[in-house]
Amino acid sequence: FWDEALKIIQQQVSEQEHVMWFQQIEYTESDEDSITVTVPSSFYRDQVKQRYLDLILKTLRQLSGRSFQIHFSIAKTEMVQEKTYQETRDDTQKRNDQSPSEEKKQNPGNSLPAPGLNEEYTFTNFVVGDNNRFAANAAIAISKNPGTTYNPCLIYGGVGLGKTHLLQSIGNSVWQEKDNAKIVYVTAEDFTNEFIRSIQENKTHLFKNKYRKADVLLIDDIHFLQKKHETQEELFHTFNALFDAKKQMIFTSDRPVSEIKDITERLQNRFTRGLTVDLQPPQMETAVAILKKKAEKQGVYVANDVINLICQKITTNVRDLEAALTRIIAYAELVNKEVSLEVAQRQLKDFFSSPTQNNITVDVIQRVVADYFNLSANELKGKKRTRQVAFPRQMAMYITREITEASMTDVGLEFGGRDHTTVMHACQRISSRMRTDPTIEDIIQTLIRKIKEEGSRA
Ligand code: ADP
Ligand code: MG
Repeated sequence: FWDEALKIIQQQVSEQEHVMWFQQIEYTESDEDSITVTVPSSFYRDQVKQRYLDLILKTLRQLSGRSFQIHFSIAKTEMVQEKTYQETRDDTQKRNDQSPSEEKKQNPGNSLPAPGLNEEYTFTNFVVGDNNRFAANAAIAISKNPGTTYNPCLIYGGVGLGKTHLLQSIGNSVWQEKDNAKIVYVTAEDFTNEFIRSIQENKTHLFKNKYRKADVLLIDDIHFLQKKHETQEELFHTFNALFDAKKQMIFTSDRPVSEIKDITERLQNRFTRGLTVDLQPPQMETAVAILKKKAEKQGVYVANDVINLICQKITTNVRDLEAALTRIIAYAELVNKEVSLEVAQRQLKDFFSSPTQNNITVDVIQRVVADYFNLSANELKGKKRTRQVAFPRQMAMYITREITEASMTDVGLEFGGRDHTTVMHACQRISSRMRTDPTIEDIIQTLIRKIKEEGSRA
């Protein structure tokens, strides 16, 4: 019965989805009105439920002619591991008291730090919130069973949201668990440079040897590969070799792969063949938890109201949050004062009046947005209303309203003398699309960052 249901489902999902989410579901038992299946992890269960529960129930109903329940049970080996993880996560205090040597006793793996990885980038040091739960759970699941379930995995998100941290956590975790695992971490930029050098020095065999023999390959910031055709080609072959050998690959990108310009379709297709997860900026509670943890790690007491203030003021990303905290702590130490609310307020004020915020003009916004979408600034201001132009134009208007003081009327004037109601509709349209499509928010974050960078150079 379940097999029949699977066959029907298979026709309704893509090949990739089928392999990814259905092949690992195991039929366990059933009675009159319910069926029990076993899945590899609770992460897996949650994903299948979220994505396919309706489809599964519908199919079961179709086949049986009545309503059917489905229960998911978790495979045993995984349950033990998950429980251990839960315990360490739930009890922050206990975890912090644990000395490193104790941790090492618990696992028989490598006692030296993983080469090329930052030891601080671990799951234990990663605060999980609504903004990153999916990504974090996926990363944990992968590190338990590299190469089997979610291969490759692509983590995308704006700058400073924890991509590198999560990526290296997987590396560190596998390194701890598995003796002799060959873990290779590289930024796409270094990968490119190394590749070019290997050609110049006639040592491509060494290059291939290094990357195609990895057990876990972690490549950071793959958006860097745009326009690098030869490197893309090389990575394509590296990918295939590792994929066939069931070796785990994880990539990060600051934007959805579909937004990376000038990258071959077949490589794009490889990147997204497995699981794609995204990171969003943290909400208040998570931001607070992150900063508390950072302060604790530095051994500095920072009052709650100071942390709250930072988190209220800085909503961009975790890196900025950390920078603000560090700055406040450094200042307090310098003048030999407590980290008081007053010190924090003064320091944050300077933080915000940094030049980055000031040189943002509508010109810069139009230039960056146009460039991102392969258009010219004049097209953004022009009359054309095809989709290729209209959407970027709406984005640019929305961003202008978000990060400058310009009124709707001002914005209309800057965009080819349009009416303020046009601007209003554009902003509403983007807001509502953002609610249904998380990639839009992501693109906007990327654009805003670029605009700020440009602005600070001006
Ligand atoms: P990205 O690679 O996305 O630009 P990083 O991984 O470098 O971002 O993260 C920036 C900083 O923020 C790092 O110091 C990282 O440890 C920290 N960070 C990001 N997210 C979290 C989190 N959820 N918990 C703890 N620290 C975090
Ligand atoms: Mg990074």
